[in-house]
Amino acid sequence: MAEIRLDGVRHRYGRSDDALKGIDLTWEDGGAYALLGPSGCGKTTMLNIISGLLTPTEGRILFDGVDVTGASTVERNIAQVFQFPVLYESMTVEQNMRFPLRNRGIDKREAQARAEEVAELLEIGHLLKERAKGLSADAKQLVSLSRALVRRDVSAILFDEPLTVIDPQKKWTLRQALKRVHSELNHTLVYVTHDQTEALTFADTVVVMDQGEVVQKGTPDELFERPAHTFVGNFIGSPGMNFIDCAVRGGVVGFGGVDLLRLPSSVSPDHEPGDVIGIRPDFVRCAPLDRSGPAGLEAEVGAVRDIGTAHLVELLVGDAGLVARIPPGEHVPSGRCTVLMDGDDVHFFRHGVRVEGSSSVVGTGGAR
Ligand code: ATP
Repeated sequence: MAEIRLDGVRHRYGRSDDALKGIDLTWEDGGAYALLGPSGCGKTTMLNIISGLLTPTEGRILFDGVDVTGASTVERNIAQVFQFPVLYESMTVEQNMRFPLRNRGIDKREAQARAEEVAELLEIGHLLKERAKGLSADAKQLVSLSRALVRRDVSAILFDEPLTVIDPQKKWTLRQALKRVHSELNHTLVYVTHDQTEALTFADTVVVMDQGEVVQKGTPDELFERPAHTFVGNFIGSPGMNFIDCAVRGGVVGFGGVDLLRLPSSVSPDHEPGDVIGIRPDFVRCAPLDRSGPAGLEAEVGAVRDIGTAHLVELLVGDAGLVARIPPGEHVPSGRCTVLMDGDDVHFFRHGVRVEGSSSVVGTGGAR
């Protein structure tokens, strides 16, 4: 296993715009990472640069501090699993798993023991003697995964959307199996996906990309609770964070006549174009209209959607729209209601970036 560092990595295909725009990023040894972002943001480019399939236009790749920018995939000792299964159809599952080890001079007994261990972790022990050719698409992909996992000497294992061919019901089981394998074998894993559920349920740390840049690296909780950027607030969560234009006066951020946050002294106390507050639908609460509190805002209730695990309620406060997620068993408003927000759940974003160090003034500022 290795610590992998990207140092000022930029990549451009031909004359097009930069697919990666100068990335400085460290993947720590033994970490389980997801690389998450929308289609075209540069995930595969980043993965191929780590594995050595692509050489960056600028910058360096360091494995444990050693510059490997010019080294091949084999020299870097990377295992990569692609969207679609890559295996030898005429071999049995066990032969497929032993193959990468045979090539590295591991003796047969040891190779067999490792194949059995990984097969057990992925719950495919019963398939070891089966020919790959007759397997279902998802069993084949499991074999592809296991061919990467049997290797102990790899610097990292890179997964590029590996569950694309897997039946949706089985994806959860497989991700859990991968997590189990990671906790047993402690490989450095990088798992590329555009699906936030996959990323958040697999990884300890998620790297979020947008338009060739890394916008945040953090735990699933950090991405949810403290998104560094409006892009992350919107991309993570279903639905994403509410963003609302706000007033900023004398370092105090308000909305609908209610003071919510006091800005830190490190930022300008006056309003700037594009200033917004963000709040997760989970933290927008609705109360009966007569319950006016210091942070109460009168709202008109729009469409209500029952999504099974909650109700999503559209609210209009003045001309600002926002969504509340009402948990099961709680009152679903209709007509008009009072919207309550706790300043601790509200984030202030300037030029798209979350301003750290704001403090809540709800309950002390009062309604203006
Ligand atoms: P997806 O999830 O759709 O696979 P991605 O996040 O992996 O997308 P990349 O495939 O890395 O993104 O692509 C990043 C950018 O580089 C995109 O604008 C894409 O069109 C461009 N690109 C990728 N490969 C090539 C190539 N071989 N030639 C030219 N442009 C490319």
